[in-house]
Amino acid sequence: MENLGLIHELSVELSNQIAAGEVIERPASVVKELVENAIDAHATQILITVKESGMKSIEINDNGDGIEADDVEIAFQPHTTSKISTEHDLFNVLTLGFRGEALASIASVSKLTIVTSTDGKSAIQAKFSGNTLVDKKTFARSKGTTVTVEDLFFNTPARLKYVKSLHTELNKIVDIVDRLAMGHPEISVRLIHDGKDIVWTSGNDNLQQTMAGIYGRTIASHMFEFENSDEDYAIKGYFSKPDTTRSNRSYISLILNGRYIRNYQLTNAVIRGYGSKLMVGRFPIAIIDIKLDPTLVDINVHPTKQEVRLTNEGHIADMISEGIKNKIANQNLIPDAVKNL
Ligand code: ADP
Ligand code: MG
Repeated sequence: MENLGLIHELSVELSNQIAAGEVIERPASVVKELVENAIDAHATQILITVKESGMKSIEINDNGDGIEADDVEIAFQPHTTSKISTEHDLFNVLTLGFRGEALASIASVSKLTIVTSTDGKSAIQAKFSGNTLVDKKTFARSKGTTVTVEDLFFNTPARLKYVKSLHTELNKIVDIVDRLAMGHPEISVRLIHDGKDIVWTSGNDNLQQTMAGIYGRTIASHMFEFENSDEDYAIKGYFSKPDTTRSNRSYISLILNGRYIRNYQLTNAVIRGYGSKLMVGRFPIAIIDIKLDPTLVDINVHPTKQEVRLTNEGHIADMISEGIKNKIANQNLIPDAVKNL
């Protein structure tokens, strides 16, 4: 029957752009999604090369599993993933991705090239422009994947206008790379911006050394370490001495099963652990690594997966602040000047 109504299905291009509106806000979102894909693909080395704060180009090169030639085009369709299949999987997610939206979304708002190989012998190169496959051919490269994103938001002028100064956008990129790298000390993560090395972590599975690649050796070597675990939660953290602080709380990173998350209560728990030892308006540098059974967390709350719903959030918060408090109490923190009185 002919449809005389006004309601019709959106085109694939348009629905991808709408989805992109949720997850691809700025260049840093592209970096986040593509690095997460590289991590999920078991890469041990990830090289991120960014030009003009990502507005000119963003390239993520990994030595992970690669994508089968037959899967390349499918991977760029909306809601296509290799990571979950059943409802049970959705509540047991151990990968960073599972929504199957990132590649389709990014391709819909940029000019994207992917080169990928699963065996290091044959590779496929595919080029997309605003979601349309414009070229596909065989190529040569080692095992892994390189995704290059150019002219981000070239077809979405409103989003382009929303992008802030190049300085701000670069800071957002560095921030997300820092946290992804700290979530995965077993991976060497390198960020080069306009030819300059910004972040380079060792990948030797040592969180403190990973921090050195991010905050510098001096700060990393002066961190305290704590562990606090029970049958459900294993929490480990590094935190700065009360006299090494910053003017905002963004230097407190929370990693949950390898995923960087934002959580007000847990961030506050870190600060609470210092008691009265922090000066007013000053905040510590800290990384809190939380491992728990995936059924105790719902990560399907927000498209960017940075906000999660935790069973027993208050209990985890207490474990963090107790861990920090006890460690500080056990250190001799009385400044020399006071000791000599
Ligand atoms: P999701 O990560 O949620 O599965 P994406 O759109 O980000 O969705 O990616 C779609 C699929 O493409 C992934 O499930 C994965 O199979 C494949 N893929 C994407 N990036 C890579 C990569 N760097 N290496 C290997 N496979 C990848
Ligand atoms: Mg993904």
